[in-house]
Amino acid sequence: MKYDYLIVGTGLFGAVFAYEAQKAGKKCLVIDKREHIAGNIYCENVEGINVHKYGAHIFHTSNKEVWDYINQFAEFNHYINSPVAAYKDETYNLPFNMNTFSRLWGIRTPQEARDIIEKQRAEYGVAEPKNLEEQALSLAGKDVYEKLIKGYTEKQWGRPCTELPAFIIKRLPFRFIYDNNYFNDRYQGIPIGGYTPIVAKMLEGIEVRLKTDYFDFIKENPDIADITLFTGMIDEYYGYQLGALEYRTVRFETEVLDCENYQGNAVVNYTEREVPYTRIIEHKHFEFGKQPKTVISREYSSEWKPGIEPYYPINNEENNSLFAKYRELADKEEKIIFGGRLGNYKYYDMDKVIEAALELVKEQL
Ligand code: FAD
Ligand code: UDP
Repeated sequence: MKYDYLIVGTGLFGAVFAYEAQKAGKKCLVIDKREHIAGNIYCENVEGINVHKYGAHIFHTSNKEVWDYINQFAEFNHYINSPVAAYKDETYNLPFNMNTFSRLWGIRTPQEARDIIEKQRAEYGVAEPKNLEEQALSLAGKDVYEKLIKGYTEKQWGRPCTELPAFIIKRLPFRFIYDNNYFNDRYQGIPIGGYTPIVAKMLEGIEVRLKTDYFDFIKENPDIADITLFTGMIDEYYGYQLGALEYRTVRFETEVLDCENYQGNAVVNYTEREVPYTRIIEHKHFEFGKQPKTVISREYSSEWKPGIEPYYPINNEENNSLFAKYRELADKEEKIIFGGRLGNYKYYDMDKVIEAALELVKEQL
């Protein structure tokens, strides 16, 4: 049987593309090496709670087209992400806002906060920040950097902040109003019922084969499709011939607890270096759950090694220039396209994945 498209990966990128391709009358086969669909947005029901198996996922976007697009497949609740940071025995609101500053310095007004930060910036900041540490010190000063950024970031990325790109920290809002919304985006929420049903709807009526690794499958089915969309790791696809790109991975220790409410919030970040995990997720709070039990996941970050799931591309200069070389190889291909977080080696959020997939749809279909 011959297909128009072989789509490798049932994550959001592969699923959006498959849905649109089928709508355009193309015959698609979707494969995934995992035993379930939905890639990293997969949710598993435990004790009536949707557990975000590969890490907390909050949908947020400022792109109305993307918001309307995803709303075709699910209804979203009004969840607003407002993580809490635990530093030793202190508790702060995130992102960095007046609630954080007020707790840090016992002050009340934006002017008082600005004065303190300005003084610290003058002492520690630089005019043109070249790495994450310089960026953080120049943006927020020493206290915020040392209590809320340094330990967390070095745990998450396994590198000193001086060796990390400045842009990572620019993802976070920094504001002088009392507003704990972690995102600046106009639209935000959690799909009622979790993310897996979204992908299931996208893949409805399309042939899907799970527990099927591309590299084994293609050996036996070399001519299965006219074009392949590959959403796995681009360096793995090319047999690491130019060298291996670096990734970070996360490991979750998930526990069911016999209590109704463990930490009072979906996300608590542990920002000191000494606590080995980066954060604890209490999944029920994403959907305002009232179940008698609760499920929590401690999240540990580590360097990726072959054989485990890669999660985050490490977009520093070295990796980006290696990726550019793989991209050159990819640009010469006629029958294979790369997409998604791993195929494009980009630190994409879900909305950007949808945008990129729809862009590809325009080019291809
Ligand atoms: P994936 O979901 O990784 O899908 C790729 C699929 O390809 C996988 O199912 C994999 O098994 C399959 N595959 C790979 N290689 C092969 C092969 N050789 N053969 C067969 N199948 C293969 N985004 C947000 O917008 N909000 C958030 O709050 C958020 N939180 C996140 C938290 C964490 C811990 C992480 C890691 C990411 C987070 N993201 C978040 C980003 C989000 O997960 C991604 O943007 C999105 O899931 C990427 O979709 P994808 O299809 O590109 O990749
Ligand atoms: N960050 C931090 N302290 C926190 C939360 C985040 O220093 O309490 C930094 C950290 O470097 C992280 C970056 O901000 O990599 C972006 O955070 P975000 O929550 O967007 O990361 P995600 O896990 O969603 O990729």
